[in-house]
Amino acid sequence: MRIGAHVDPAEPLAEAAARGADLVQFFLTDPQGWADPKDRPDAEALIASDVDVYIHAPYRINVASSNNRIRIPSRKLLFRHAAGAAKVGAKGLIVHGGHVESADGLDAGFDNWRKTFAFAADEGGFKTPILIENTAGGDNACARRFDALARLWDAVGEYEVGFCLDTCHAHAGGEDLLDIVERVKGITGRIDLIHANNSRDGFDSGRDRHDNLTAGEIDPELIVAVIRAAGAPALVETPGGADGQTADITYLRERLA
Ligand SMILES: [Zn+2]
Repeated sequence: MRIGAHVDPAEPLAEAAARGADLVQFFLTDPQGWADPKDRPDAEALIASDVDVYIHAPYRINVASSNNRIRIPSRKLLFRHAAGAAKVGAKGLIVHGGHVESADGLDAGFDNWRKTFAFAADEGGFKTPILIENTAGGDNACARRFDALARLWDAVGEYEVGFCLDTCHAHAGGEDLLDIVERVKGITGRIDLIHANNSRDGFDSGRDRHDNLTAGEIDPELIVAVIRAAGAPALVETPGGADGQTADITYLRERLA
């Protein structure tokens, strides 16, 4: 079972070594901005490395939005980050499911997701597999509650779309972790990556605050069980820098052995 961490983008391979990580995830740009990725000097080293690379798309991306001044730049930025991710040999580009401005806009939001993949297909296809991640909060989210996730997958099902399951987001978003792998796979048919995080907040709180695995509100054994059931690579997006994340990775390796 391959286990890793979300790390600072400056020197991801050094961060991986510091944690004994099999995989790393990082941002190609400021996650709060709209910048295109730049070529990285360590691209060849990342491709050649035994460490698997995943890239997280900027948070600002919301391809579901009914506001075309958000939706259209989001669509293009996602496409360009997929190209940037390919240049470092990434196995996936993780992007949040996004949200719409009102509950009656959800159908349009799912259709906007479909149009995102249609746009990319017209441009030659995303250069890195897109993994849509479930989110913790909001009333009009596309991938918080799984009834919405099912409608999202109905909309994008004709394209090759991956899924990233975040355990903190599921718990805080109000989806029970107990049988979650079965329920996700019933919708998406796949789980490509687990974001293994504990939550500082309660079930269905709608808050997105990650915690270390043996801290927080989720029974950590449940997080281990989710990874085992999914049979997918997992990475922690937990606090405490290299020390905190190394402890989390060690915890997972010991339980999953
Ligand atoms: Zn996550």
